[in-house]
Amino acid sequence: MEFIPFHRPHIDKKDIEAVSKVLEAGWLTMGKKVIEFEQAFKNYVKSSNAVSVNSCTAAMHLALEAMGIGEGDLVVVPDLTFTATAEVTFYLKARPIIIDVDPNTGLIDLNMLEDTVKKYKIKACIPVHYGGLLCNMDAIMDLSEKYGFKVIEDAAHCLPSQITYRGQKRPVGSIGHVTCFSFYATKTIAIGEGGMATTEDDKIANRMRIMRLHGIDKDSWKRYTKEGSWFYQVVSPGYKYNMTDPQAALGLTQLKKCDWMGDRRRYIAQRYIEGLSDTEGISILHKKWLNSSEILHSWHLFVILIDPTINGGRNRFIEDLKNQNIGTSVHFIPLHRHPFYRKELKLDSNNFPGAEYLFERIVSLPIYPSLEDSHIEYIIKTIKDLLQ
Ligand SMILES: *Cc1c(COP(=O)(O)O)cnc(C)c1O
Repeated sequence: MEFIPFHRPHIDKKDIEAVSKVLEAGWLTMGKKVIEFEQAFKNYVKSSNAVSVNSCTAAMHLALEAMGIGEGDLVVVPDLTFTATAEVTFYLKARPIIIDVDPNTGLIDLNMLEDTVKKYKIKACIPVHYGGLLCNMDAIMDLSEKYGFKVIEDAAHCLPSQITYRGQKRPVGSIGHVTCFSFYATKTIAIGEGGMATTEDDKIANRMRIMRLHGIDKDSWKRYTKEGSWFYQVVSPGYKYNMTDPQAALGLTQLKKCDWMGDRRRYIAQRYIEGLSDTEGISILHKKWLNSSEILHSWHLFVILIDPTINGGRNRFIEDLKNQNIGTSVHFIPLHRHPFYRKELKLDSNNFPGAEYLFERIVSLPIYPSLEDSHIEYIIKTIKDLLQ
C-alpha cells in the first residue's frame, strides 16, 4: 500500500476552473467573489450575516473585539482544543479560564462551566464542537442568558452540522452570538487559509467588517473598481484579516459539495465503526452519534482511544501505523500541557482529568472524501493485526 496521508483536500476540476477564472479576471484581493461567497455561506447556515476573514483565528479575535472584550476580562475556553481558541484572548489582554472536558465526548464540561460562571464574572465563553460533535447549545445559551456572558462558537470542525436547538433542527451558525468557521487546508471545506464569522447581531457584524480591513469605514475593498472612490476614513486601528477573491472562488465550489463530502465522511465513519467495534484495546469516540436524530455530526475527525496498557499504548500505535504507511494525528495536545499556558495560567494536570484521560489515548484516523474503500479496508485490517 502507498502512504495514506492523514488528510487530503478534495480538489476537483471545478475547483481548479473556478480559481483559474478569477486569476484570469485579474482581481487578486477582496472583491466580488468574496461577497458572493459570504452570501452563499450565510444562506447555507441560515444566518443573517457572514463576515469572511483569512482564518477562524481572526474570526474569533474580531468577535471578541466587537463584543468589547478587553484588558482583564475573563473568557472560558475548553482544555481540549487548538491553541487558537485561547490565544485570541491574549491579543486583547483578556484572560482565558481553561476548564476540563467530558472524557466521553471531548466537549466542554457543562457542570464546570456552570460552576465557573457562578463564581466569576465571565464576559464570554468559546465552546468548541470537538471533531464535529456539537455541544449542548440549549444548556450553554441558557447559562449565557442567566449569567450574562456572550457565546462565540468555535465551529472550526462543523461543516456541515445540524443540531436540535430549542426544539428545532437548524444548522450551526445562528445559535451563539457569533459562530466562527475555518477553511484551513485540513478542514472539511478547504481553501488553504480562510475563515467566516456568522452572527444575527448586525452591530457586531459591522464592527467586524470594519476591523478586518484596517479599521476603514466601509466598502473600502471597492476603491479600485468603477463604483469605488479613492476617499476613505480610518475609524479605528484595525487588522489585515480580509479574504481574497481566489480563496472565495474555491470556497464557493467547496461549499457546493459540502453536503456530499459530509455524506462521504459519514460513510467512512460507519465503515470504521463496523470494522473496529469489536477490536480489543480500542474504543471509538462519538460512536453513538453516527445515527443520532438530535445531532448531525460532521465527522471532521474520527477519533479512537487506544488502551494505554496494550502494546506500548497510543504513541507506539501511531509509530506502528506510520510504519505500515498510514498517517494519523492527535487532536489535541490539551492546552494545559503547553509550556506557555501552564506557566502563564499556573495550570496543574490534576485539574484536567477528562483531558488527561483522552490525551493519553486518542488518535485521529484518516477520514476524507478521496479516501478509497481499499484504503479503509487496509486501515481496519492493519489496526486489527497490530492489536492482536
Ligand atoms: C483549525 C482550528 C482552529 C483555527 O482555524 P484557522 O482557520 O487555522 O485559524 C481553531 N479551532 C479549532 C478547534 C481548530 O481545529
